[in-house]
Amino acid sequence: MIRQWSTLHPEFSFLPRKFKIAITGAPNDRAAVKIHDIGLRMHRNAAGEIGFEVIVGGGLGRTPIIGEEISAFVPWRQILNYCEAILRVYNLYGRRDNAYKARIKILVKALGVAEFTRQVEAEFAHLKDGPSTLTEAEVARVAGRFDDPVLAPLPPTDAAHEAHLAADKAFAAWVRRNVRAHKVAGYASVVLSLKKHGVAPGDVSADQFERVAELADDFAFGEIRSTHEQNLVLPSVRVADLHTVWQRARAAGLATPNIGLLTDIISCPGGDFCTLANAKSIPIANAIQDRFDDLDYLYDIGEIELNISGCMNACGHHHVGHIGILGVDKNGEEFYQVTIGGTQGNHAALGKVIGPSFAAAEMPDVITSLINNFIDNRHEDERFIDTVRRIGIDSFKTRVYAERAARLGARETANV
Ligand code: SF4
Repeated sequence: MIRQWSTLHPEFSFLPRKFKIAITGAPNDRAAVKIHDIGLRMHRNAAGEIGFEVIVGGGLGRTPIIGEEISAFVPWRQILNYCEAILRVYNLYGRRDNAYKARIKILVKALGVAEFTRQVEAEFAHLKDGPSTLTEAEVARVAGRFDDPVLAPLPPTDAAHEAHLAADKAFAAWVRRNVRAHKVAGYASVVLSLKKHGVAPGDVSADQFERVAELADDFAFGEIRSTHEQNLVLPSVRVADLHTVWQRARAAGLATPNIGLLTDIISCPGGDFCTLANAKSIPIANAIQDRFDDLDYLYDIGEIELNISGCMNACGHHHVGHIGILGVDKNGEEFYQVTIGGTQGNHAALGKVIGPSFAAAEMPDVITSLINNFIDNRHEDERFIDTVRRIGIDSFKTRVYAERAARLGARETANV
């Protein structure tokens, strides 16, 4: 509905700059709503009514900012009117004199969130119940264009599946990392990993896409979703079919059991493909995959997000990676700045820079130092990000630069 409402909407035809809206309907944000111009989080209020938390002014790039809530609850019928009010304030006061300062995040920052909210609410007072108000009939019309697969009720467990889990360690590892619970008993959601070691993160060949299409047609009601983590999802697969799906996905190189682990890297195309790049991203991702190619060790490290961008445009979302790597240009040479402590999702936060940048060849060692410091300091079952939050970045920083100095010193000694 937002797409239909916004296409050819006059308020959209001369905005100061590009504009992106993200929506999530899940308790855990999977749509990065806090780093979009408008983020909408659907939820129920205390009375059980459906509406949206509205977040405005998020964005990464050269001025990374986490969006701010301007309304805790806008009733669903009013959401387009409320978005229209936001756009009107942006259209009136967003800067058009400087492309770098034209995004809505800069306006929200300049006005302050309280004043921005006041202005939006003042516009909304005029727009409320206006022509963009949603109705049940309109929601039903649009919903009717999206066929939900009819999922026949199934028993929650499957004896053959349980037997495969018990007999086959590799299958069990894949189920643990790449298969997620489904709201309907007897079904599961499957993540097809596009993070095979040695392959550019997110890359998929034409042949693999054929296999994905076959898997979707044969086992997932013809549905495929892509994630911003650069993987593919088969949203509804019968639990009883998981073993066959795994075998076929594995044969196609799409079943690396590393979802959410260190090698499930988000990487932009970087200098290999992008003319805006300061540095290459993909070789850095591949070098880190090579260094951490032991799955048991990856499982021991646990959940961690590592994001790489080849320039400050931040297409690889490095600011919100638990570890973020940014390609920078230093006198024509490629270097990499490292941040830690960033997070996406409900508690989105920007990472902090740990210090001076590194040469490409140093990056696997830098990541090793960060991981070793985490392992030495973590509490049992603590994730990397939780350790960083608990102890701060200083010990990570000290470890990385001390070990780097030792390496450089050893190299100089060897060269004497
Ligand atoms: S972050 Fe920079 S290098 Fe990477 S794809 Fe975006 S513009 Fe290109």
